Amino acid sequence: MPIDLAYSCHYCHSTQGTNFLATERMLGIGGEFTYVTCDACGSLQLLTVPQDLSPYYPSDYYSLGRLQPSGGLRNFLKKIRMRAFLATENSFFSPRFGGYWLKRLHPKFTDRIADVGCGNGQLLYELHVSGFKDLHGFDPYLPKTEQLAPGLKLWKQDLAETDLKFDLVMLHHSFEHLADPEGVLRICHERLNPGGRLLVRCPVANAAVWKQKQALWVQLDAPRHLSIPSTHGFVGAAKRSGFEVKEILFDSTAFQFWGTALYERGEKLDRSKMDTHFSSKQLEAWEQQAIQYNLEGKGDQACFFCVKAGGKVEDQA
Ligand SMILES: [Zn+2]
Repeated sequence: MPIDLAYSCHYCHSTQGTNFLATERMLGIGGEFTYVTCDACGSLQLLTVPQDLSPYYPSDYYSLGRLQPSGGLRNFLKKIRMRAFLATENSFFSPRFGGYWLKRLHPKFTDRIADVGCGNGQLLYELHVSGFKDLHGFDPYLPKTEQLAPGLKLWKQDLAETDLKFDLVMLHHSFEHLADPEGVLRICHERLNPGGRLLVRCPVANAAVWKQKQALWVQLDAPRHLSIPSTHGFVGAAKRSGFEVKEILFDSTAFQFWGTALYERGEKLDRSKMDTHFSSKQLEAWEQQAIQYNLEGKGDQACFFCVKAGGKVEDQA
């Protein structure tokens, strides 16, 4: 079906796409939303973003729940664990938030680090108690700007509004919520020091589950996910924004299977329903299948490790 509204792919700027309808399923609100698959790069995007998305972000939305602090002894142990984790190859020392992406970034404890779309700041808090000293979270949906501790500040603003420069900028599953992802890549480039690193973790349209199950794919997440790049599309947009993509690591999980299977059965995204619907054997099989999909480059999410390249940023097309 041809698209009938002005469309330009966020990632490759192609105006040729194929539209499809998706419905809100996570909360069971329903409604129909038109998405477009780019004919050139395979990235997905919501054709018309609703003026008010707030009904789709209820007050208990997971990323804005309360930060859970930990006590002095546990924080002391987290510090030791992080030093061992970064210094050795032993995954025994992996932090609970899963540090595979952190280790690949070779961070220094003194690096100035930004987390864009930081939600309640839990990840930055974990990095703070693990020994990192210059941490900044950005999220316009925070209730207020707050210095949580020396070296840990949450800003109620977008990254574009700060004058600070960073050694590392990270987006953990916030990129797919952005209306102008390429514009944000350019802002990240501006806010990074020379040679600075960018980590983007997001769903990707390479997903085999997307290809098989289409609009039932759990990480399509209409209408909250405004765009989902293909790896090809992301690399092109990152390059135009002055980045070199050094590595793409697929890190999908069993969630792609059980979340999608719940939607197939007409359920909302309710973890408590998992045990009713799926045996532990099935869940284990899905864990293994996710590992296999990641190896084959067809898992439903990935980490993009980018470096600020020395060259000039291309003019906006
Ligand atoms: Zn495209």
